[in-house]
Amino acid sequence: MTTNSELYERGQHSIPGAVNSPVRSFRSVGGVPYFVDRGSGSRVWDVEGAEYIDYVQSYGASILGHANPKVVAAIEHAARKGSTFGAPTLNEILLAEAMVDRVPGLESVRLVSSGTEATMSAIRLARGATGRNVLVKFAGNYHGHSDALLAEAGSGVAEGVLLGESAPDSAGVTPGAVADTIVAPYNVVPTLDDSVAVVIVEPVAANMGLVPPVPGFLEGLRAECDRVGALLMFDEVITGFRLGRGGATQWSGVSADLWSFGKVIGGGLPVGAFGASSEIMSHLAPLGDIYQAGTLSGNPLATAAGTTVLSEMSEADHQSLSAKAKVLADGLRDAFETADVAARVPRVGPLVGLFFGGGEDPVDYGAAAESVSLGRYPEFFHGMLARGIAFAPGPYEVFFTSMAHSDADLDRTVDAAHEVAKHMAG
Ligand SMILES: *Cc1c(COP(=O)(O)O)cnc(C)c1O
Repeated sequence: MTTNSELYERGQHSIPGAVNSPVRSFRSVGGVPYFVDRGSGSRVWDVEGAEYIDYVQSYGASILGHANPKVVAAIEHAARKGSTFGAPTLNEILLAEAMVDRVPGLESVRLVSSGTEATMSAIRLARGATGRNVLVKFAGNYHGHSDALLAEAGSGVAEGVLLGESAPDSAGVTPGAVADTIVAPYNVVPTLDDSVAVVIVEPVAANMGLVPPVPGFLEGLRAECDRVGALLMFDEVITGFRLGRGGATQWSGVSADLWSFGKVIGGGLPVGAFGASSEIMSHLAPLGDIYQAGTLSGNPLATAAGTTVLSEMSEADHQSLSAKAKVLADGLRDAFETADVAARVPRVGPLVGLFFGGGEDPVDYGAAAESVSLGRYPEFFHGMLARGIAFAPGPYEVFFTSMAHSDADLDRTVDAAHEVAKHMAG
């Protein structure tokens, strides 16, 4: 039988760090990553046959759980008809319509193949449409790995910062590439001027742990953007079609001018999308003079999977997903309280975060990083993993329940958390 350690060793020879995305490495928690053999519903099994209740769920890309039979059938059906053509297909329209139907204010979308591509392209659109250069982002918000957005980003990038590596987020990003990027603290409305093309924000921040917007923050951004004629962009790659049918836009009641999406809308296959009003989107080629393209964009398999997922998730399902997350969050909170381990477990709908340490829930990256610097997450992570519960191997990620997580899964998770919390206190 192959072991995780053997694959980890073997993978290093042909893949940097044996992972194709740094968040998958165990760099910030220590140890050897488990190599997944297969997944079904709430579970994954590694190559050694160990079973885990999975709260990674591909960082939110699997909302129905792994290998959902309807999604598998949709992919199979699409694959038999051919997997890519370089010509438009009906599936693309179906996915675009499903998105436009659900998000208030969204009229037109362009499909791409990742969240990174979506945010990167949307920013080009914002700059082209406004004729302005400056982009404002918030510290600890992650918007993918394009150059202009790799300034004080969260998620795996934040782990590098934590470990004291290059502070401008990444080597290889030139000062010129971020010269027009301004980073502001999350949850404070910045004062803008008319050089600003776009303000990009995670409307509920989920890449520095979970940090909800304070009351008035999103409304304030809307007003400040309107005051100077800048566009407001919601990066809904995590929140879109997860926080509810209409994502964070519906949840907050604040409308954006531009959106990016990813994760959920691909049903586990590579998809991203960006969108806006028809007027703004008309600046894109072939209608307008802003170029953006992609050989595999709107891929038939990915759009079939995504359309199936969106049509499966009813309003009641979204409520049920949030109810599962509430059981998880309440259970974790109770486990830490009972064991007298200082921790906070914020929750927004279906999203659950975890910050060790006392005090108020973090409202910005500084407070989130302070909690992470206590260094308690690795012990929690490994304690849970040893008990068959997989959370993300990094302290800045959130926990993803899927529709496939059962009451029994959640109970087992909470029981394990009680044991682990007791050890952490001991
Ligand atoms: C994951 C993520 C991205 C990047 O998406 P990829 O598909 O990984 O490129 C962008 N924005 C947010 C908010 C994300 O969570």
